[in-house]
Amino acid sequence: MEVMLIVAFALFGTAIGSFLNVCIDRLPLGKSLLYPPSHCDTCQHRLSPKDLIPVFSYLWLRRRCRYCQALIPWRPFWVEVGSGCLFAFIYWHYGLSAEFAVTVFYGSLFLVLGVIDLEHQLILNKIVYPAVAVALIIDIVLPQTGILDAFLPQPAILASLIGAGNGLLGGGIGFVFLFIPILIYPQGMGWGDAKLAGLIGLVTGFPLVLVALLMAVILGGLVGVTLLLLKIKSRKEAIPFGPFLSLATIATLLWGSDILQWYLGLFQF
Ligand SMILES: [Zn+2]
Repeated sequence: MEVMLIVAFALFGTAIGSFLNVCIDRLPLGKSLLYPPSHCDTCQHRLSPKDLIPVFSYLWLRRRCRYCQALIPWRPFWVEVGSGCLFAFIYWHYGLSAEFAVTVFYGSLFLVLGVIDLEHQLILNKIVYPAVAVALIIDIVLPQTGILDAFLPQPAILASLIGAGNGLLGGGIGFVFLFIPILIYPQGMGWGDAKLAGLIGLVTGFPLVLVALLMAVILGGLVGVTLLLLKIKSRKEAIPFGPFLSLATIATLLWGSDILQWYLGLFQF
């Protein structure tokens, strides 16, 4: 039964993933998420329901449009697969709980933010600002309603249970953490990164915000050095930091407390 539910949430996640693809495609261009309906970017043919089955229609059409045979990029496929894995894993991790709902919401949010920054070098205010508002509601309002206590099997694991003070502290630390390097080295990162780091602090709270930011710096550094050594990128080309921030935040939402405990354990003899 449990396995069936995990598979069901994986499939649900791939369906959410195809909506996330629509967000990634259209939000940077300022297009509506609802209209026009999904269509092939090459021949404009409207896609039928059988073309829109997440992951699978991609595989059996061999990445090609059914109508004009144009090759479809890999990204929509990987976003659907990634979202499916994320939903299945979060369900397995938290069960059907308030934590599940909050974590899949944040996971989807950071997936969209990260992929848009990867493709466009843009962190969109029209995503970050509403997300800050939602994170503030989750930090400040939700704990007071008592909804969380009713649903939570294991209180206090979830970042959103950090409470108002902790969430705001995390947000402030996140913003300042990137604010200083931007002042010193404005070419390296943008205000988008600082706002994103503030959002990450609201989402993860203190001290997990430090886990997320340090993980992003380490990941970004490793990938940046590798790309330079393999000569895939030159020293002058900017590598966006948002994808690393997003990936590190998703990892922190899932394993942040474990990572922090492991790290603090290193100093205990
Ligand atoms: Zn087509």
